[in-house]
Amino acid sequence: MAKIFCVANQKGGVGKTTTAVNLAAGLAQHNQRVLLVDLDPQGNATMGAGVNKAELKTSIYEVLLGMSDVNEARKRSETGRFDVLPANRELAGAEVEMVELDNREKRLKNALAAVEAEYDFMLIDCPPALSMLTLNGLCAAHGVIIPMQCEYYALEGLSDLVNTIKKVHANLNPDLKIIGLLRVMFDPRMTLSQQVSAQLEEHFGDKVFKTIIPRNVRLAEAPSYGMPGVTFDPISKGAQAYIAFGAEMVERIKSI
Ligand code: ATP
Ligand code: MG
Repeated sequence: MAKIFCVANQKGGVGKTTTAVNLAAGLAQHNQRVLLVDLDPQGNATMGAGVNKAELKTSIYEVLLGMSDVNEARKRSETGRFDVLPANRELAGAEVEMVELDNREKRLKNALAAVEAEYDFMLIDCPPALSMLTLNGLCAAHGVIIPMQCEYYALEGLSDLVNTIKKVHANLNPDLKIIGLLRVMFDPRMTLSQQVSAQLEEHFGDKVFKTIIPRNVRLAEAPSYGMPGVTFDPISKGAQAYIAFGAEMVERIKSI
């Protein structure tokens, strides 16, 4: 059965999508069967996996509203060697439309259950908000991966996310836990990065992943070619870091 993880942080632009797409590709390199779930109406994970969001007949939107199923909506990322449950702007409507439906927080969970046996990992790329969509992600998952930049404001807002995760754990999904904090866009030359990184280790101990993702322009360039950085430039420092993170996750799930 698949282990399901949300990549979440309600702060925008902290590297959620880059992490979801490249971890998916990194895990595929370790021969893991992966479904990348795009839960953001921006559709960036979809595009970054090489699937054109403008040409979707069915997407996660129809799946959440019960008009289609995962089997019908999923696509293959040929560039990343994983499957994608794609999203586009339509998904923004689901936020409102789901309010009227039964079990509205668990619609993603129930939809993913049908294909759970086909994968080792499912990775859910969440939007930058603690919204009904993110709540669906948290209810479907066994754990949360929180990407963060090691900068002064990084810890601000983290408590809102941690509190939301605690509430979901208490009321809706007893399986849910924080798997770890992932340091991304790391610049070792900056003293501040080093300091914040050390603070994170001090406060969160082994909840901080060992792998650190460096700031690397190849990771930022890759999406415009519809490729994960991991396959776009496999020997770049960013790609190597995400491949190492894949290995760390394969190891980590043994103790979850
Ligand atoms: P949103 O909240 O809008 O969904 P996000 O948290 O998903 O954003 P990304 O889209 O992954 O963040 O990253 C934001 C920007 O930073 C993008 O332009 C991306 O290419 C760039 N970026 C992410 N990680 C790195 C990295 N390690 N090195 C260099 N650039 C990066
Ligand atoms: Mg994103």
